[in-house]
Amino acid sequence: MSERDCGPCTICCWFFAVPETAKPTSQWCEHCTDHGCAVHQTRPQSCRNFQCFWLLEPNFPEEMRPDLCGIVVSFNEEHTSVVIHVDPDRPDALAEEPGSWWMEPLLNAYDPVCVVCGDDKMVVRRTLE
Ligand code: SF4
Ligand code: SF4
Repeated sequence: MSERDCGPCTICCWFFAVPETAKPTSQWCEHCTDHGCAVHQTRPQSCRNFQCFWLLEPNFPEEMRPDLCGIVVSFNEEHTSVVIHVDPDRPDALAEEPGSWWMEPLLNAYDPVCVVCGDDKMVVRRTLE
């Protein structure tokens, strides 16, 4: 379990599908409130399982919190690859501070890195020397 908590961030409740409730991607969950999940105690397993990169790594600064920087970084199940999800309402989030901080350390650890912003998808490879 992570040593930190999500605080006021609920942005993954917008970004990701919840198969158990048929919630689609890019849409707020009906259970999401200003105070967090209204069904926290009985939330679906997929919600329980999800932890973004920021949540898992206590050394990331508060300003990198997904709702603040407009970026959620998720892993595959084996934690061998990552996807950078950019808020489509903030399409420049990855190019601007503080979100621009994500790319270099992720590319140093994972190759390739996938970037998704709405319907736009791109695969970024580490530059070979
Ligand atoms: S995006 Fe990360 S920090 Fe934000 S609510 Fe989801 S798991 Fe928590
Ligand atoms: S059930 Fe709760 S944790 Fe899951 S997406 Fe909805 S508001 Fe978020």
